[in-house]
Amino acid sequence: MHDLVIRGGMVVDGTGRAPRIADVAVDGGLISKVGAVEAAGRREISAKGLIVTPGWVDIHTHYDGQVTWDPYLSPSCWHGVTTVVMGNCGVGFAPARPDRREWLIGLMESVEDIPGSALAEGIKWEWETFPEYMDSIDRKPLVLDVATQAPHGSIRAYVMGERGARNEEATPADIAEMARITREALEAGALGFSTSRTQLHRAKDGEPVPGTYAGAEEMIGIGKALGQAGHGVFEIASDMTIPDDEFAWMKQFAAASGLPVTFGMLQAPGNPEKWRDLLRLTEEARAEGAQITAQIACRPGMVLGWQSTVHPFVRKTGYREIATLPFAERLERLKDPAVREAILSEVTPPPPGIGALLTHGFNNMFRLERAGKLDYEPRAEDSIGAEADRAGVDPQAVIYDMLMENDGRGYIYLPLLNYAKFNFDHIAEMMNHPATILSLSDGGAHCGVICDASFPTYMLTYWVRDRERGERLSLEKAVSMQTRDTARLYGMNDRGVLAPGLKADINVIDFEALQILAPEMIFDLPADGRRLVQRAEGYRATVVSGVVTFENGVATGKLPGKLVRGPQAAPALLAAE
Ligand SMILES: [Zn+2]
Repeated sequence: MHDLVIRGGMVVDGTGRAPRIADVAVDGGLISKVGAVEAAGRREISAKGLIVTPGWVDIHTHYDGQVTWDPYLSPSCWHGVTTVVMGNCGVGFAPARPDRREWLIGLMESVEDIPGSALAEGIKWEWETFPEYMDSIDRKPLVLDVATQAPHGSIRAYVMGERGARNEEATPADIAEMARITREALEAGALGFSTSRTQLHRAKDGEPVPGTYAGAEEMIGIGKALGQAGHGVFEIASDMTIPDDEFAWMKQFAAASGLPVTFGMLQAPGNPEKWRDLLRLTEEARAEGAQITAQIACRPGMVLGWQSTVHPFVRKTGYREIATLPFAERLERLKDPAVREAILSEVTPPPPGIGALLTHGFNNMFRLERAGKLDYEPRAEDSIGAEADRAGVDPQAVIYDMLMENDGRGYIYLPLLNYAKFNFDHIAEMMNHPATILSLSDGGAHCGVICDASFPTYMLTYWVRDRERGERLSLEKAVSMQTRDTARLYGMNDRGVLAPGLKADINVIDFEALQILAPEMIFDLPADGRRLVQRAEGYRATVVSGVVTFENGVATGKLPGKLVRGPQAAPALLAAE
């Protein structure tokens, strides 16, 4: 008798092997057999006509605050995710002195667009140090497994106070202390250290995230702590313009420590071929023994509506006058033809930089839903700008009316990054490159403009099944990209593959019926905080450590998730593989 048997499904086991019909038996939270299982299970799931995969491992999330009040970590849990790695991009909530809490919340709010009021109400600060933060998570019930990284921004502000927050240069003593804290976090089980090197990520006062300008000495000094701890991924939020000297210390660190370095890589709108340079540098570094991996996204994702953080009318006086009204009231005013006319007729110059794309980039704005489907890869001629041109109307009027659809809950799609050529061909190329890793869902973050926690589902619905504009991925590749590959980068060798001895984190999916639903803005964070979410249909069951957590999209109430402490060894059985 097994604890659980998933019977007769098409098993896509995460190794990249071709799918095969098999049963999966689970005992004691681990997979005990994949093949023909004779014995019955105390619980049986019929997977006939369904696919059976490892649970998704999402390595780029920002649930650092949410994890302290929400055992479910939605929306990731709705998309078959069974392990998340948080603490990315240099921001997080530990270590934290009591007088820095508000500042850390402000930093998370402005960098990751998570409502500060929700964080302030939701987080019960039970820690000061990073190990104490981990202990606090360890005590909480969770529906899925959670792994942490030590964030540079928090550590720098903790050690250097105002000087750190203001990005002043670190003294040798500061660096030694940051290294000590990093090592302490890793020894407590953090899986990595993260830092932000992008001008785009700024604190409330406009100051870039602490550590953004940290010199090579500081980075190498902290890197040594990873080397001493003997494990840890070095995660870097970059703005796609990594200068050569930056790459030099990444390479130096990775080669010297033997530890992985990973950085975000997207196609930049102003420099659409730059990613090729970065990938070439990455390749060269790998050839020299430096384990550097570029994190890539499977689609662009910005979605704007009246309730979003930004939309094309936010700078107009006519809108600003009503911007702070409760939504129902604001909507009434927006329906007023006089208000519409005032907003549309007001001429505002484009703001400098990338902001111009948000208010004036009409050729890069699209209707998200067309022909009953969410279309994230529309053609240039389908843009709102092009549509308006053909109709001889003001594109702003088209946008205004789209936002008014569905009783003021209409959305436009703005592929700000990763869409310079109006197709995903570069993403396909990135995905097929050995030096990349699927990432950047930003689960739990950017609540006002994106809902990319749905990436894992999109990989199957679009990249395997629905894409018609170019190359698709095989099911086995798409699955291994977000199971074995992501788990291995972070040293979680106990999961990500369906094989005996590994963790029984499993999805049972109706592949034909699988779909992502339209984005919706909901207000269920603490203090009625807002977040844009997307739900999914087609996940028949999700299993974490052998326990069914979701069935047909409904939570079973079981909370088998755990804090992941440190790298996880593969079972001896697979060690040779
Ligand atoms: Zn991030």
